[in-house]
Amino acid sequence: MKDLVDPIVDAIKLAVTTIPGDTVKALKQAYESEESEIARFNLGNILRAIEIGKSRIVPVCQDTGTLTFFVKAGIGSPYLGEIERAIIEATRRATLEIPLRPNAVDVLTGRNSGDNTGKGVPVIRWELVEGSDVEIAVLPKGGGSENCSALAMLTPAQGWEGVKRFVLERVTECGGKPCPPIILGIGVGGGADYSLTLAKKALLRKVGERNPDERIAELEEELLTEVNSLGVGPMGMGGKTTTLDVKIEIAHRHPASFPVGLVVQCWANRRAFLRIKADGRVEVWQ
Ligand code: SF4
Repeated sequence: MKDLVDPIVDAIKLAVTTIPGDTVKALKQAYESEESEIARFNLGNILRAIEIGKSRIVPVCQDTGTLTFFVKAGIGSPYLGEIERAIIEATRRATLEIPLRPNAVDVLTGRNSGDNTGKGVPVIRWELVEGSDVEIAVLPKGGGSENCSALAMLTPAQGWEGVKRFVLERVTECGGKPCPPIILGIGVGGGADYSLTLAKKALLRKVGERNPDERIAELEEELLTEVNSLGVGPMGMGGKTTTLDVKIEIAHRHPASFPVGLVVQCWANRRAFLRIKADGRVEVWQ
């Protein structure tokens, strides 16, 4: 049976060293449209860090984050029993070889495991689907932006206006901490835990890719404009570009609840995907 560790290490390496083209394009557009000198200076530095990461194959930021893997597992895949072990082993190897910063510490003692694995990490989210392919998304996420993520249990009466207020207040409160320009993943409905899962998964969509539901796409556009009117700007030093995009995912909710999960991603919008076919062929992309 094919060894899955190598291609998963490749996907992790791609994710931490290369920022996806859609994000780079949005950062370049922001650089062109910003008028303030300090905003252009900060965007210029970000674009240079991205260029160095890609050309030297080194991480674009020293905080290589914690790793979340979203696995869409085809129920007919012969590899199902191998995936979890391969992800954990790939995380260990990637930490050593790329290298990644060891970012997994014991909750009570603070002791670092040294290899980005430990109790409950890397996080692996499973979804069973039809077919025999396995698709794995790798999402490395830095601590600075993750610290700005939040949950709001709104009342149904607060509704979408409440969602906007919550997001705008949170982005203002965080200022430069999540290294803007940020990308906002928002999950609405489904319960407290699921709204946050939806929010994190939303970050896997390309910058500029709207929700296929037109009502939600409209809300994404509205929030994008409103967040960028806040003036937080690149690295929190002022400017027109606070967020590159807003992604909203929804699920049905309890009639008495209106949960809103917000996951904030930094300019280092890292992600990569791999697909493992039943015959062992593997494809890695961003
Ligand atoms: S928030 Fe993102 S860009 Fe800023 S230090 Fe953390 S990982 Fe790096």
